[in-house]
Amino acid sequence: MIEMKDVFKKYPNGVVAANGIDVSIKAGEFVYVVGPSGAGKSTFIKMMYREEKPSSGTIMINGINLAKLKTSKVPLLRRNIGVVFQDFKLLPTLTVYENVAFALEVTEEQPKYIKKQVMETLDLVNLKHKARMLPTELSGGEQQRVSIARSIVNSPKVVIADEPTGNLDPETSWEIMNIFDEINTRGTTVLMATHNKDIVNKIKHRVIAIEGGRIVRDEQRGEYGYES
Ligand code: ADP
Repeated sequence: MIEMKDVFKKYPNGVVAANGIDVSIKAGEFVYVVGPSGAGKSTFIKMMYREEKPSSGTIMINGINLAKLKTSKVPLLRRNIGVVFQDFKLLPTLTVYENVAFALEVTEEQPKYIKKQVMETLDLVNLKHKARMLPTELSGGEQQRVSIARSIVNSPKVVIADEPTGNLDPETSWEIMNIFDEINTRGTTVLMATHNKDIVNKIKHRVIAIEGGRIVRDEQRGEYGYES
């Protein structure tokens, strides 16, 4: 479902953040992306949802080559890929409900369908009772749950997360991870960059390690493999 071939990324300042990446990820997989700071994890992930364009190589997601995708078609791609960030990126003036519904409203769905879909998704992340609150009225873990709800409300085939537990305490991080595991169990492919050693070593999945813009390790049910 995701296939990168000979992918290079050189930023305008000359930094090569992807240096010949070949990888294939099947539908339904759960993949952790690990590696030291500055290794190229975010660049790898950003290229998957076309936040960054590769300098060369091909990136196929569900048959679409992201390297060639016109900028005008990017919103269409984003409907099929959910994205979760370390700092949540919720819209501060919108309620929990509105933040999640926003992702569906751009797809011009019927209001009745939107309401049902948003409430079901909020139920999945256990936040139905806080639907009318603003993000500032929620804890960090709750805000991340809203952002996960927003990422999956369109029923995307892939959810991509960049350090989703990076701002959260250990207990909350486990809650968040359990939600991702549940999403994956329901059939969605999950790709997650993380520094969370405990989680990677306990909830076993495929581990791709990146260093210096290259994949240096790729193991099914792998270990975190770094000190922290
Ligand atoms: P990681 O997520 O593993 O910390 P990144 O992908 O963020 O790594 O960064 C990889 C390298 O690319 C680093 O040297 C970083 O400084 C550089 N880099 C990242 N984003 C940019 C950018 N927009 N412009 C220039 N250099 C960048």
